Parts: sequence; C-alpha cells; structure tokens
Amino acid sequence: MAAVVGVLALQGSYNEHMAALRRIGAKGVEVRKPEQLLGLDSLIIPGGESTTMAKLADYHNLFPALREFVGAGKPVWGTCAGLIFLANKAVGQKSGGQELVGGLDCTVHRNFFGSQLQSFETELPVPMLAEKEGGSLTCRGVFIRAPAILEVGPDVEVLADCPVPAGRPSITITSGEGLEDEVYSKDRVIVAVRQGNILATAFHPELTSDSRWHRLFLAMDKDSRARSFAALSLSASSSEPEVVPKNKPLDLPIFE
Ligand code: GLN
Repeated sequence: MAAVVGVLALQGSYNEHMAALRRIGAKGVEVRKPEQLLGLDSLIIPGGESTTMAKLADYHNLFPALREFVGAGKPVWGTCAGLIFLANKAVGQKSGGQELVGGLDCTVHRNFFGSQLQSFETELPVPMLAEKEGGSLTCRGVFIRAPAILEVGPDVEVLADCPVPAGRPSITITSGEGLEDEVYSKDRVIVAVRQGNILATAFHPELTSDSRWHRLFLAMDKDSRARSFAALSLSASSSEPEVVPKNKPLDLPIFE
C-alpha cells in the first residue's frame, strides 16, 4: 500500500512536496485543520514564510495539534520555514517573534544567509544520505532566503553543513532586551539535521529532481509504522491468552 504523508498546506511550497511524493509513488494529503492530522502517520512542513505560516497556523488553531503530533514521535520533516517551525529556539525574527511548534533541540537563525537577493544554489556533501539512499555523495542545495542552524543539542545528528558565504551580510537581531549584533564566527554552518522522528533541512529538496530526501523521510515513516505495529502486537500478545473450553469444536464459523 502506498505511504500516505500529510503536507501542511497553509502557504509556501506544499504543492512541490505533493508532486515530489507522487514521483516516488507515495501519496500526499494536504493538511489545513487540526482534525486533518488525525490518522496521519507523518507530516511535512514546507518552506515559505514562517511568520505568515505561523499566523495562519494560529488562526486555524493548529499549534496544539502540531505539538502533539511531534511529541507523539511521528515522523515530521521541516524544510526551510518548516525547519524554523520545528526549532526550539529561533533568532533573527521580527520583533515580538513568532510562535514555534518546537521539538527540535537547536537554535535556528531565520534569515542566516541574508535577504531574497542572497538566495543561492550549491552542491552539499551529504554522506549519510548517500549511504542510506545511494547515489551521489552530494546533493543540490537550493537556499531561498534560507535559515541555518547555529547550535544543536546532544541528540541531534548533523546531516549536512555548508561554508558560510564570504559576502554574507551581518545581521542585527532583535532579542527580548532590544537590538543585538549577531556574531557567528565559524566558517561552516549546519543546514540539515535529524533528531529521532524529526528531519529538518534549511534548503528545498522538493525543488530538485533528486528524490533521496523524500525517500529517506518515507523510510523514517515506514520504520515508525513498523515500530507502532510491533508495540501493538506485543501488547495484544501480552494480554491473558484466551481459554478455549475443552471439547469445544474449533471449526469455523465461530459465532454461536
Ligand atoms: N527565512 C524564511 C522565513 O523566515 C524562510 C524561507 C523559506 O522557507 N524559503 O520564513
């Protein structure tokens, strides 16, 4: 049976994710309301504009259901604005910040690479992806007014990083106390991570013909469903065995 993946369809590149899923024989289901998450096993949160997406998510009262979905351990993949949604902490936000779903133990900078004009494409080394899904040791990274991950917690696996572009504008960020100069002194920055059920990429695999990120996510979905199935069968088999009375014929039909 084809895998069914929810795609948050409030704004941004959800159509492109739906098409990418179709290309690998999976089915995407557009999600706009909390009740549409019920019964889904996995979810993609696409790129777009995270402030707008957060306003729409709030309007549709989606935050509690999204948090519950992530907290239940179901696979969730955030691309670009979706990564911002999943981060526990975001900097470089508009004043007042924005609501986040959270769950991913990292600090993300919302517009790390600068404005729309600093959007770029690059070849990213992706050894883990190549090991799991085969193919080239690099993938095409499409960065559109992209965020980046400044810090990760101990349970977060880094899947890709990239050099910080030389001409990257320094950005002043707003914190609770007012304006702060942003300091980022490393020469590389993290752009793809995994933490258990959460996958996050700062770039847009759905805009390329390389389907390996979508395949990796489907593999996470499959593993997670196999685990829930195993847990269910375990709890069913650990319950009291049915006592079959002696001499009772076991022929079908079993209703009396
Ligand atoms: N930096 C953008 C934001 O804040 C995200 C851009 C994208 O998703 N392509 O929402």
